[in-house]
Amino acid sequence: MRLRLEASRLLDIADRLEAGERLSFDEGMRLFEAPDLLAVGWLANRERERRHADQTFFNQNIRIEATNVCVASCLFCAFARLKPGDPGAYTMSLEEAWDKVRDREDQALTEVHVVNGLHPDLPFSYYVELLQGFKRIRPNVHLKCFTAVEIAFFADLYGMSDEQVLRELMDAGLDSLPGGGAEIFAERVRRKISHDKCGTERYLAIHRTVHQLGMRSNVTMLYGHIETPAERLDHMLRVRDLQDETEGFQAFIPLAFHPDNNQMRKLPAPTAADTLRVHAVARLMLDNVSHIKAFWIATGVDVAQTALWFGADDLDGTVHEERIYHMAGARTPEVMTTHEIGRLISAAGRQPIERDTLYNVLSVTA
Ligand code: SF4
Repeated sequence: MRLRLEASRLLDIADRLEAGERLSFDEGMRLFEAPDLLAVGWLANRERERRHADQTFFNQNIRIEATNVCVASCLFCAFARLKPGDPGAYTMSLEEAWDKVRDREDQALTEVHVVNGLHPDLPFSYYVELLQGFKRIRPNVHLKCFTAVEIAFFADLYGMSDEQVLRELMDAGLDSLPGGGAEIFAERVRRKISHDKCGTERYLAIHRTVHQLGMRSNVTMLYGHIETPAERLDHMLRVRDLQDETEGFQAFIPLAFHPDNNQMRKLPAPTAADTLRVHAVARLMLDNVSHIKAFWIATGVDVAQTALWFGADDLDGTVHEERIYHMAGARTPEVMTTHEIGRLISAAGRQPIERDTLYNVLSVTA
């Protein structure tokens, strides 16, 4: 491998990583530009195995998207509908949302993951009662709910500070925040693809507050559309900076752009090679974030399996009823059983570990 690394001008980077040194922006650019994808993957895999050996994490979770009514107009979004009553618009009653959890009484769910559109008319009590109801039905379930974009929207709509919103939701049962809504932090891209929702500074400030309040969160990056490699790196380095400060991010989750049924449908979807490289570069740049997640719904199952050798150590979970990606054309299944997800991980030559949201190990498959 040293010969290959040398041929790709990556040997100095390999040595610096071996010495535990942090990579710079320019070194990240070289990782994106190196023609030998397998050499980049080899480096990322070495870092992944240094942290987690063969372990590959997943959990038993359910996704609930309680409404797709959204006042924002992100160009990549196939999920949102502008107004209640528009074709395809829906808003679950609280009972309907709670039923999603009640109906899985016989399953060992450990996490409820909620992400919604930015609905202009629902009262704040809807979200508070949503969480309270989930906890009533399943007191031990972990509630990972509402992106930073939703938190900012609630604060503006209901006349509260971001911190007040978070505190009230915590009182109602909120345990952590998902990483959605990050898209790409670079202003040039954000202005074009999601100009009318919470900006980068506020997204990061909300995650800082989340961490200061004692909760953990994840962070995503939507890649494969109009962003450049430099803008991907800028995104990763902003995550790294905040993580140096708070240590509150658990996982970095690259999200593949899907071009169907949205305003960017003329663009091609990212290739498997691009997806593998993004996961690998993320593993190499984000030395202070424990987990790189290959979200199988977005990457496709086969690519997610391969990503387990390109830096990723987590496959998200069993998921159930995901709509955001499927409305954008994802052809992945909407659910996998724990048996299926374990089999996929084993078939990729890795060891399946069922975890809870906070990465406590629940069971290990031999
Ligand atoms: S990505 Fe989120 S905020 Fe943007 S339009 Fe879709 S639902 Fe609304």
